[in-house]
Amino acid sequence: MRLKDWPAYPHQVDALVRAWQHDYPDQLRVQSLTQYTRHRVHALTVTDWSTGESGKKGLICAVPHAHEPAATVGIMDFLSELLTGRHLDRSESHLDAQSILSQCLLTFIPDANPGGRARSPEPFWDGQKHDNVTFQRVMFGIDLDTESVFKRVARWSLLEDVPARIGVAYEQVSEHEFVEPNRDEGSSLVRLSRQMSGQYCYDCQVHLHQTEFDWTGQNATNCMALLPTLQAELPESLQQANLALAERMIALWRDLGGHPLPEPRRFVYGEPHRQWFVNSWGDVERRIPSVTVEVQNNHRNTSPHQQMVLSSAGIRAAVEWLMESG
Ligand SMILES: [Zn+2]
Repeated sequence: MRLKDWPAYPHQVDALVRAWQHDYPDQLRVQSLTQYTRHRVHALTVTDWSTGESGKKGLICAVPHAHEPAATVGIMDFLSELLTGRHLDRSESHLDAQSILSQCLLTFIPDANPGGRARSPEPFWDGQKHDNVTFQRVMFGIDLDTESVFKRVARWSLLEDVPARIGVAYEQVSEHEFVEPNRDEGSSLVRLSRQMSGQYCYDCQVHLHQTEFDWTGQNATNCMALLPTLQAELPESLQQANLALAERMIALWRDLGGHPLPEPRRFVYGEPHRQWFVNSWGDVERRIPSVTVEVQNNHRNTSPHQQMVLSSAGIRAAVEWLMESG
C-alpha cells in the first residue's frame, strides 16, 4: 500500500476534495464547518445534480473517530469510485456509479474530527507497532495522576482535568473544552449532521467505526453491524429495516472474505454513555434506519487495506439496500 493512496490526514483529504471539486462540479457539492483548531470538517454530497434531488434515496455516512483512519479512507475510496471510476490506487471500479448517482443523494463526512486526526501519530493501525494498551492511550489520552488511560466522557475541561496526553479521539471545541464527537451535541459531527439533515432528506444513516475486537478472544471476528441504541423502543417496521440493513452488510462482508459477527449486534452502552448517544442521535434513530459499522483496528489479522475494503463495503451495502428498498 502506498501512503499517497491512503488519505487519512486532513491535508490529504482536503487536497482530494479540492481536486474533485474542480474536476466533478456536476456530481460533488461540499459544505464545511471550521473546528476550533481551524481544521475543516467536510460534508461531501454526491448525486447527479442535473436531475435535482427530489425522489432520490438519501444516505448520510460519517466517521466520528480520529483513531479510526481506515474508515475515512474507505469513504474516500468509495467517493473515488463514484466520481472517477477508479479506486484510490487507480485500479478499476466495478460500481455502477451512473446508476447510483442517478438514483441516490449521498452525503459523506469522511473525518468528523480532523483536528484529532492531525494529532494521530500513525496514518493507520495494523497491530505491528503498538499493542492495544498503548493504542488506548493514544485514543483517549493519559491521566496525569495515574498514568493510565484518561477517562472516556462526552465532554471534559482543562479547567478541571489536565491529562498528561490529550487523546486524539477528543475534539477541542473551545479554549478549555474537549468533546467525544459521537457523544456530545456540541461536536462538529453532530452539528454538521444536523445541518445536512435540515437541508437534504436522508433515508438512512451509517456511522463507520473501528474497534480491536479484543472481547472475542481469538480475534476471529473482524467486522460487525451494530443496531441503534434505541432499537428495542422503535416501531416494528423501523426495527426490521435496521435488521435488514445490518444483514445486508454482513452478507457483503462474507462475500468479500471478511469475518463478520454472524448476527447484527444489539449493544447498548451503560449510563451515562447511553444517554449521551440518545441526546446526539435519538432523533435520527426514531426517524430513519441507522446502523453502525465496526471494522477491526490495530490487529495483524486485518491489514489496513482490508480495514478500508470492509469499511467501504459497509457503505456499498447500504447504498444497494437503499436502491432496492421501495
Ligand atoms: Zn469509533
